[in-house]
Amino acid sequence: MSDDKSDLTSEMTDRNCNTLGVIGAGQLGRMMGLEGTPLNRSFCFLGDAESGQPAAVIGPVLDRSNQATLAIFQKKVDVITYESENVNADWLEKLAGDTPIYPGLRALRSSQHRWREKDMFKSLGIETAPYVKVTSLEELTAAAETLGLPLVVKTATDGYDGKGQARVHTLEDVPLAWQALSGSDAKAVELIAEGFVQFSRELSVIAVRSVDGDIQYYPMTENFHSEGILSVSRMVPGSLSEETRQTAMSYVQKLLEHLDYVGVIALELFDTEQGLLANEMAPRVHNTGHWTQLGAVTSQFENHVRAIAGLPLGDTQALQPYAAMINLIGRLPNPEKILQMAGTSLHLYGKSARPGRKLGHINLIAGTQDELESKISLIQQEL
Ligand code: ATP
Ligand code: MG
Repeated sequence: MSDDKSDLTSEMTDRNCNTLGVIGAGQLGRMMGLEGTPLNRSFCFLGDAESGQPAAVIGPVLDRSNQATLAIFQKKVDVITYESENVNADWLEKLAGDTPIYPGLRALRSSQHRWREKDMFKSLGIETAPYVKVTSLEELTAAAETLGLPLVVKTATDGYDGKGQARVHTLEDVPLAWQALSGSDAKAVELIAEGFVQFSRELSVIAVRSVDGDIQYYPMTENFHSEGILSVSRMVPGSLSEETRQTAMSYVQKLLEHLDYVGVIALELFDTEQGLLANEMAPRVHNTGHWTQLGAVTSQFENHVRAIAGLPLGDTQALQPYAAMINLIGRLPNPEKILQMAGTSLHLYGKSARPGRKLGHINLIAGTQDELESKISLIQQEL
């Protein structure tokens, strides 16, 4: 009798995916861990020595370059997720074996290559900037003629925080952009040239899909960048037309269903006079969703954990009419000043300061727009 019971318990534990394996040990993994712990999930991270290990406070960080620790990771984890789309998908597939990877490899591979990503958007009827695939200087010159100027040229792989991009304003810029992005191995170059989008603002939509196919959407955010790095995200449901919201949700729904997706997804969008254009997707929790830690019933991190652990999704509604997130980049403010402000929370990742590095963020909620904006100004003065 008692044996039967313990069998049942262990079976339930197995099905409940008790240990979540995360590729990477940075702040995103740490925040998944902080919000998955109350659900009694354990975490095991695969990190590397160079990039620091904010997630080490949550669970063991194993060395991804060591075969012996990789074997421990494989044995220990019930499901695998990742913090960054810059993970070698073939390596991950082999590492995982029969262990589920969420979001799945198709989503990961699509997000890793701008050609595949844009072609997928197009095939699903998701509007984008006009684009041309480029593998030579001649093709880049031809793209400038086909698409017209200005152009944004990007490497097809490995771009982040605006790195791996060049702007082409005149035909003289074409060889400069080619030189800047083609690197030393000019034979294997894969670039994408995109028409320059005259957007009124940048938006993102974050959603989550469960193993059973349930989809929940967060209120959208408007995003501001400084030197190519996200600086402020504001939740903006009130300032969006119903049509814009519906379009954004339909784009995300198409992606989630096409990819049979599990977990949190972010889709970056340009708001233009012609409607919404999709820029890129991220198959993971996203910096423009950090506000949900304070501003939504269930944060993106908890919902990601719920989704990949096979649990029901949580409520994505906002708790207050206004919310925002300010990134702390390169240096930190006086924490006491921030902690004294009502309706704010401070997140520090425990990383050493370096120019351009994301060291933490501040979340804010407010009952009125004036209140939110005056808090944002106060904080920006501190920074
Ligand atoms: P991140 O990691 O910050 O998301 P990224 O390196 O992956 O950036 P993108 O998101 O494609 O690259 O581009 C970075 C920024 O460059 C965008 O947020 C937008 O401001 C601008 N940008 C990108 N593509 C275009 C375009 N076709 N037209 C106008 N601006 C663009
Ligand atoms: Mg982007």
